[in-house]
Amino acid sequence: MVDQIIAENLNTVRGQIAKASGGTDCHLVAVSKVQPIESVIAALDAGHRIFGENRVQEAETKWPDLKSRYPDIELHLIGSLQTNKVKLALALFDVIQSLDRPKLARAISRAIKAGGTGLVAPRLFIQVNTGEEPQKGGVPPGELPALITLCRDELGLKIEGLMCIPPTSEEPALHFALLAKLAGRHGCAGLSMGMSSDFELAAEMGASHVRVGTAIFGERQTAL
Ligand SMILES: *Cc1c(COP(=O)(O)O)cnc(C)c1O
Repeated sequence: MVDQIIAENLNTVRGQIAKASGGTDCHLVAVSKVQPIESVIAALDAGHRIFGENRVQEAETKWPDLKSRYPDIELHLIGSLQTNKVKLALALFDVIQSLDRPKLARAISRAIKAGGTGLVAPRLFIQVNTGEEPQKGGVPPGELPALITLCRDELGLKIEGLMCIPPTSEEPALHFALLAKLAGRHGCAGLSMGMSSDFELAAEMGASHVRVGTAIFGERQTAL
């Protein structure tokens, strides 16, 4: 029952993305935070492989096992990352979308170097606080150039793209446009933007990744 609903939701969302993006590459990150494990497995069994989690500790409880059962999973960290969890995050996540400050960039760089040749360096997105909200993660737009320079020139970190979470009370299109402009200016191809309420708009505006939870899995039981 639930399995079928999730498979249908995935199909619907994929269709909406394909239509809105006009056929350009836009990847669906299924946001599985606080969802029951059965729902995650239903999405995996429906063939989906790209997932997003916002907490390292929660991800640690379910994904090592799932990754051993479904080897081609691509896991994205989309929530804030504390420097003391960087090592754990690198072991678990293929993509970190929430790089947002110099201290974290340095910690990631150090952990990659310490990891040696066996470690696959994560793909990195810088989260930009486009609404400059004090309670929200992300680098303020004014501090983005310095953070990109630090990552690229001093630390040798490749930045694949930019990510944003617009303020809930504002028109998301303005924030998506700003993010796209910043990405263009800094030569970042990736654009992670759009959630359940606005992923079609984001896909239309050039998102390379949309992050969709509720529209696939239903309402979360716990607020997060
Ligand atoms: C929870 C979350 C999402 C998904 O939100 P929905 O509205 O359920 O689609 C997307 N991005 C981030 C950063 C999130 O924390």
